[in-house]
Amino acid sequence: MNDKKLKTFLAGVFDDFKVFAPAKNDGKLVVGEVAKAEEIDWSGQMPVNPWKKVFLPSEERLFSANGDKLVENKNIYPKVVALGVNVLDLRAFTLLERVFADDVYYQKRRRNTVVVGYSPDWPIDYKKYKVFSHNFENEILEHLLFDVFIAKLKNNNFAFYSGSIEGQKLLEKYNISDYKNIEYIGSTPKTSVDRKMLQLQEKVAKSADKRIWNELAKICLACGKCSIVCPTCFCFDLEDKVDPENPGRIRKWGNCFYNDFSRVAGGYKPLDDVKQKIYFWYVHKFVRIPREYKMPGCVSCGRCSKVCPVGINIGKVIQNISKIK
Ligand code: SF4
Ligand code: SF4
Repeated sequence: MNDKKLKTFLAGVFDDFKVFAPAKNDGKLVVGEVAKAEEIDWSGQMPVNPWKKVFLPSEERLFSANGDKLVENKNIYPKVVALGVNVLDLRAFTLLERVFADDVYYQKRRRNTVVVGYSPDWPIDYKKYKVFSHNFENEILEHLLFDVFIAKLKNNNFAFYSGSIEGQKLLEKYNISDYKNIEYIGSTPKTSVDRKMLQLQEKVAKSADKRIWNELAKICLACGKCSIVCPTCFCFDLEDKVDPENPGRIRKWGNCFYNDFSRVAGGYKPLDDVKQKIYFWYVHKFVRIPREYKMPGCVSCGRCSKVCPVGINIGKVIQNISKIK
């Protein structure tokens, strides 16, 4: 990465922030903390793990009980940059921003985080990501939330975009003046609906009694790996710590494949077998999220298919559901 503007930008962020970026670790592309720019992988390939841990740690203490007071945990918000987030992961981030719009813990982290998107080719060829779940728009950036976006052009130069006041301030601080401002106009185009998303929504909603779920339930181990790596799985559990030294409340990632996920008082579990669990997972992604947020709950990143120990491939499952009469 020899581009002068990019070098200046990187020097600035490494001086000012704790940097999270995709980097190779034991041959795998992983999102994690990086110490220097040379470690960053600029291929634009999909990292094995999602970015959600930057905003939603897998476990965090929300508050402690001290005498008769509840003391908020405030020591957890360093200045962070999420650097090199590809467009599908920015899609997932855009969804999280809406889901956690009123969540104080998420928002505090978000305010201390600069999100820098990146594409190794511009305009983006979505075929390389094997997108299967919905259509993507032409004006990509207007439908994504980010602070700064960096695009590698065909002539090997880089174009910079700002998507927020924070992004603008940062670019100007690092003396990058020839950037474009992008105004977010919503997660989907106003002029047309995503027909593919709506058709799929209807198909999945009406498929509860179809054979496909029995077949998947026979092979799915309910190991929950797909949910752990999914950038749009955002369910969490709250747990009160019964600890005489340090009582308080923690929040940790939930997983709808695990047995306790749906247990309510009295021990009743609405999701009590694998068929119910796997159907629930698909309904959340392809029915409930589109209904509530008007955007797909799956960004087609393919992570879940890669980690599934029994080879369940979400793209193929979606294809089969689409064929159901
Ligand atoms: S990773 Fe595969 S086997 Fe494990 S819960 Fe998900 S679909 Fe089932
Ligand atoms: S492809 Fe799988 S991991 Fe990626 S967003 Fe969709 S459901 Fe989640």
